[in-house]
Amino acid sequence: MPSHHVLVLNCGSSSFKFAIIDPHHGETLLNGLAERLNDSNPAMKYTYNGTKTNIELASFSSHTIAIESLVSIIQDLNLSDSLIAVGHRVVHGGETFTQSVEITPDVLAAIQKTSNLAPLHNPANLIGIEAAQHAFPNLKQIAVFDTAFHQTIPEHAYLYAIPYSLYQDHGIRRYGFHGTSHYYVSDMACKTLGLDKQNSKIITAHLGNGCSVSAIKNGQSVDTSMGLTPLEGLVMGTRSGDIDPGLFSYLTSQLNYSNEQVDALLNKQSGLLGLSQLSNDCREIEDAAQAGHRQALLALDIFCYRLAKYISSYLVPLGGLDALIFTGGIGENSSLIRQKVLSHLSFVGVRCDDSQNEIARFGKGGIISANGSSVQAAVIPTNEEWVIATDAAALTLETK
Ligand code: ADP
Repeated sequence: MPSHHVLVLNCGSSSFKFAIIDPHHGETLLNGLAERLNDSNPAMKYTYNGTKTNIELASFSSHTIAIESLVSIIQDLNLSDSLIAVGHRVVHGGETFTQSVEITPDVLAAIQKTSNLAPLHNPANLIGIEAAQHAFPNLKQIAVFDTAFHQTIPEHAYLYAIPYSLYQDHGIRRYGFHGTSHYYVSDMACKTLGLDKQNSKIITAHLGNGCSVSAIKNGQSVDTSMGLTPLEGLVMGTRSGDIDPGLFSYLTSQLNYSNEQVDALLNKQSGLLGLSQLSNDCREIEDAAQAGHRQALLALDIFCYRLAKYISSYLVPLGGLDALIFTGGIGENSSLIRQKVLSHLSFVGVRCDDSQNEIARFGKGGIISANGSSVQAAVIPTNEEWVIATDAAALTLETK
């Protein structure tokens, strides 16, 4: 097998996703997930050549042990020799990283330093990097940052109106996340919709469990809805998105919430889950709404209203709009949410083609705006792993 594949690792605090990808065409050779790590019943599953396999891991297996199991799987499948690099998704690159980089001791130290901005994410990413360095000492390790694409956002959009010294001394500002996805779908939008990237005005809505929307002008991110942390912005599966910051002191001083309880409330108990009082899963909420569940209907309405408001506000940084792109689990699959959002935005000149909107589901994507719509709307399935593989391969071949 020719040697050109990239192993992509996306480590979370108790799980990691992995994939072996051909960076040239984006084909996935192997992909899988290790979950419930450091817990009593961890497990790993993967798909290779269309066959799904489940592996039991010893109780309380760590990331390192699970990555060792992954190495055995890769060896058993005779895929080791085909690898040229390991590409790591790293959530927070702060202001240090504006693009993907080869991981050196200095880079590791800088990622470590940024961990205070992403205490839930960067430490898990670092564990994955160290385990992969140990497992694949001969392969280059490349870091691809969720924040990097948004480093082009101008100062007037990324600063909060709080004392400037908090930015100067502590880096408190808006960073934005999901950058790899916003980059990929906006780039694909230019290719598939025939837009001139250097002269394009695109809004991308990444709607999964986490949700964010970005304004992309001439190929560069100029604003995005997530902020210092992924809590800001849109209504999400379990996150509140924007709230009055005064809520924090109300909850702590009037209702005796601790900091941890406020954090859990806003990150884990709010959003679609909190509003519907049913589920954070959009499919369940849609089914319940159809069956007349009032809270489910309300949750969908608020989700779509807030998203449409954000989208329309991005006409300011863009000065117009060529295309609106939906992606992520909800964006790629929920014709109902797309239709509701587009109907809020009819004043912008976007008109939904209802039958195309119904067809563009289940990973197929497609144009969903009607002929004659002055703004194009489309569903483009995201592929963050491919971007990570492409960057890792490019940096590896560049430095060979
Ligand atoms: P993550 O952010 O964890 O990667 P995903 O991008 O996979 O999440 O998106 C998960 C969301 O997509 C869930 O809310 C799920 O209900 C929603 N979703 C998946 N399929 C559908 C569907 N057919 N209709 C509506 N929502 C869907």
